[in-house]
Amino acid sequence: MKNGFDKHRGIGMTSQRTRDRMVVRLQEEGIRDQRVLAAISRTPRHLFVDEALATRAYEDTALPIGFGQTISQPYVVARMTEVVVTGPPPKKVLELGTGCGYQTAILAQLAEQVFSIERIGELSRRANEALRELNLSNVVLRVGDGWQGWPEQAPFDAIVVTAAPEKVPPALLEQLAEGGRLVIPVGEEQDRQRLLHITRSGNDFEEEMLDWVSFVPLVKESR
Ligand code: SAH
Repeated sequence: MKNGFDKHRGIGMTSQRTRDRMVVRLQEEGIRDQRVLAAISRTPRHLFVDEALATRAYEDTALPIGFGQTISQPYVVARMTEVVVTGPPPKKVLELGTGCGYQTAILAQLAEQVFSIERIGELSRRANEALRELNLSNVVLRVGDGWQGWPEQAPFDAIVVTAAPEKVPPALLEQLAEGGRLVIPVGEEQDRQRLLHITRSGNDFEEEMLDWVSFVPLVKESR
C-alpha cells in the first residue's frame, strides 16, 4: 500500500470498516475482480467529495461535485474498471471526464500510466490535489475537450469514458491499441444510456452492451 493512503484512512463513516461494507455490497452486486475490489477498499472516496458529503461517500450512489457534475456511483466505477483490467494489466489508459478524479485513482492503481482529460479547469485542479495526496504519480491530467482523445499519447490499451456522447467519437476507436478496450456510455437520452464495451481487433470493433447507466453528457465543444 502506498503511504499516501494511510494518511487518509478516515474514521466513523469514512473508516476502513465502512469502505469494506461497500466492497461487500459490490461483490453481492456481481463485481468479481479481486484487484478492483482491493483498489476500491483502499481508496478513500471521501477525499474526492466535498467535506459536507464525506459521510455519504460510501453509499453506492453518485454525488454532486460542483459545476453540475457528479462523482460516479461506485458500482459503475467498479464495473467499468473490471472490464478494462480483464486479462493482462493495461499499460496506457485514457480517461475522458476526470471529474473529481476518483475513477482516475482506481485506474492508476491497476495500470502503468493514466492520462485523463477534463473540460472544467477547477475540477481538474481539485482532482490533481486529491491524487497527489495519495501519491499517485503515474497520472497525467489535461484540461480540455476530450472529444478528439489524446492523439500524442495514443495508442491506448484501454479508454474509459465517464460522460455520455450520443455516438462513439471516431477518434477514440482510432486511438485504441490492437486488442484494446473502450468502455463508454452512449445514448441520446439524458438519464439513460447504454454502457458499451468495444474491443479492437485489427479494424474490427466488437461491441457488447454491459448495462443501462446514467451519466452526465459528454459536452461537444464548438469548433
Ligand atoms: N470520472 C468521474 C466522473 C466524472 S463526471 C468520477 O470518477 O466520478 C463526467 C465529467 O466529464 C465531468 O466532470 C464533465 O465536466 C466532464 N466532461 C464532459 N464533457 C467533456 C469533454 N468533452 N471533455 C472532457 N471532459 C468532459
